[in-house]
Amino acid sequence: MNRPRPKLLETTPAGLHCPIGGFYIDPFRPVDRAVITHGHSDHARWGSRHYLSASPGEPILRMRLSEEAEFEFLDYGQKTTVGGVRVSLHPAGHMLGSAQVRLEYRGEVAVVTGDYKLQSDATCDDFEPIRCHTFVTESTFGLPIYQWREDSEIFADINQWWRTAASEGKCCLLYGYAVGKSQRLLSGLDPSIGPIYTHGAVEKGVQAYRESGVKLPETTSVTRRIETEAANAGKSTSGEVTKRRKSSRAAKLDWSGSMVVAVPSAHGTPWMRKFGTVSTAMASGWMAIRGARRRRAVDRGFVLSDHVDWPGLMNAIVWSEADEIWVTHGSTAVVSRYLNEGGLQQRLQDHRSRSDWQHRRETLSAREIQSYWESTPGDDVSSENALPGNESTNESGDGGKPTSG
Ligand SMILES: [Zn+2]
Ligand SMILES: [Zn+2]
Repeated sequence: MNRPRPKLLETTPAGLHCPIGGFYIDPFRPVDRAVITHGHSDHARWGSRHYLSASPGEPILRMRLSEEAEFEFLDYGQKTTVGGVRVSLHPAGHMLGSAQVRLEYRGEVAVVTGDYKLQSDATCDDFEPIRCHTFVTESTFGLPIYQWREDSEIFADINQWWRTAASEGKCCLLYGYAVGKSQRLLSGLDPSIGPIYTHGAVEKGVQAYRESGVKLPETTSVTRRIETEAANAGKSTSGEVTKRRKSSRAAKLDWSGSMVVAVPSAHGTPWMRKFGTVSTAMASGWMAIRGARRRRAVDRGFVLSDHVDWPGLMNAIVWSEADEIWVTHGSTAVVSRYLNEGGLQQRLQDHRSRSDWQHRRETLSAREIQSYWESTPGDDVSSENALPGNESTNESGDGGKPTSG
């Protein structure tokens, strides 16, 4: 099939561009028309004139971006036409409202995943496999060492950690990003263990999620609890509330047995002193790397990621049936090298020809992939320069060498 292929996508300094449609996807700079895959700040940037995004993420996007911009929201699967290009948005499973962008022009189809994961998540719709000619995928965790466990197992561990800490009279501080991760964490917490409090930035995200109809356990922001208790303290005395009395009362609040969900930047700040004896934990995909937890100086690390893991990445590529794969984010060089070396590309095609599209949920076993790469000469997945240099985690130091298992 040697038909001339329309150029649906190109990379530019302003970001991924659709020259035919005249729009950008998650542009780095202000542009005229932006299609936004989701509300994280590295994707939804301020300053563009017109934004197109998926409906479930509307409260998050409005919270993040200027009210002066024009917004257009599409339901998942709903089609619109931009500059002659058919555009539709499909669930990416990354966070509430996260979307893959499907572009179609004269029979040519491209899909841009944005951030995505295949694990199910109670706070958003499941990733939808889409067939296309060009598949643009992220690979934040695009190394065979990254293989996530099911949510239910992680949440069982988190709740057990909370139960134990509560029995010891401690307060739990659980860190996750303000929008997306924190709400996913909340969805898995067992409120029968104790009260749940939130950092202010997390509570804002919680409100946006509730506005979109996501059910989360009851939360109170830490600030609101302090204010409420201080006000009550004022009423119970002569009615004359002094600042001094308010703050001394706040310092005496009992936080033992409670869970506080906070942003990672709150760790080690004076803000956390008020909670008394604490047990701290970080929830992130980076916790899969030995050493990451130690550098974070937290008591526990839970491997809970909102990005696709290695077996998921391989599956998504198979499901797309794409003949062109573009890799963005993270370990792009590693994944690209694997694909270009021919072996995997060939292997994926073999797998695809054996499997029926109806059985697309069939998975390549993680061990199969791993043993394949272990037998590939010159392949050093454990080299440190293959590790992510992410803004929130600097993994380039000692102890960062990943090992499987
Ligand atoms: Zn994201
Ligand atoms: Zn991202």
